[in-house]
Amino acid sequence: MGSSSASPVTLMVSEIYTTIQGECSFTGWPCVLIRLAGCPLRCRYCDTPHALEGGEAIELPALMETVKRSGIGLVEVTGGEPLAQEGARPLIRALLEEGYQVLVETGGGVSIEGVDPRARIILDVKTPDSGMQDRQDMANLERLGPHDEIKFVLCSRADYEWARSFLRETGLAERRVVHFSPVEPHGGADKEAGIRDVKDTCCATSRATADSGEREATASRQGAPGLSRKKLAEWILEDRLKVRLNLQMHVWIWGSGTRGV
Ligand code: SF4
Repeated sequence: MGSSSASPVTLMVSEIYTTIQGECSFTGWPCVLIRLAGCPLRCRYCDTPHALEGGEAIELPALMETVKRSGIGLVEVTGGEPLAQEGARPLIRALLEEGYQVLVETGGGVSIEGVDPRARIILDVKTPDSGMQDRQDMANLERLGPHDEIKFVLCSRADYEWARSFLRETGLAERRVVHFSPVEPHGGADKEAGIRDVKDTCCATSRATADSGEREATASRQGAPGLSRKKLAEWILEDRLKVRLNLQMHVWIWGSGTRGV
């Protein structure tokens, strides 16, 4: 962070809250989620449209203080596309220096170069139905460290077959933990769960836009073909694929489109 005259690292933050980690190998653990704003991609199934732009400018020390107040040792830096912000790498480094375990969830639209290797990256590989396949930086697959993970968000049987071929051609599942996550029809099963009050989270921004964000999220996911979790489970078993079924535990708990959890 340089000399005292350097301007402080500032991040555009969409929201920060405590939750149960819903994806990847850390599913089920209490976690602080820092959602940075902005993303260069526009996936058809995006479930965080509220984070694609805007955000609140927060300086790094204030962000660190919020994380510290949470009393939780696992932190996920996500978005939007977190690595599109210059301040993301210093944030990740600062968290690691303070002893936090750090997960970085990236959509793969920008390079992961320069991310502290102590962080665990969960990298999306975009499928044909995402609509963003030609916008990802495939060189990221070579940049992953030994403990990093890969996620395919699947919209259809065609997406599944594409991902299966990709894994067979690359042998990626032999070297990494690979997650298959279904985009479910109509935005998931628990829409009636509504939006939980965010007062008991460590902080949350843009509460006023949560309702419209939920509607947009549902509409956006409905714009992508859905894939049932049961079908995906059966295909994985039929093919004996060495992948993990990733079911977004936070959606099962609080419902699809719920903000601040
Ligand atoms: S990369 Fe992630 S945040 Fe960006 S549009 Fe795709 S799903 Fe949404």
